[in-house]
Amino acid sequence: MFHIYCPHCCEYREEEEFHASGQAHIPRPLDPDACTDKEWGEFMYFRANPRGIHHELWVHGAGCRKYFNITRNTHTYEILEVYKVGEKPSIVANEAK
Ligand SMILES: [Zn+2]
Repeated sequence: MFHIYCPHCCEYREEEEFHASGQAHIPRPLDPDACTDKEWGEFMYFRANPRGIHHELWVHGAGCRKYFNITRNTHTYEILEVYKVGEKPSIVANEAK
């Protein structure tokens, strides 16, 4: 078991209180009606799955229930940074699909 820092509660909590919600920083199309089926399908279903640095959206489901982002190394499971939604990460990930 390990602990994850929640930037809203400002404390480390047990991992069981959190859930990963997929890749972070995926912008919603500005005009969904103008999207082709392929563009909409890519927005809805296709995500990066890198081996290495990755930005992920997490939720503190059994705590404050707020979302935040984690930069994590998917190879070592190491959490490199935690930041609130809307903030920019200080570590750049290779999000190539
Ligand atoms: Zn929290």
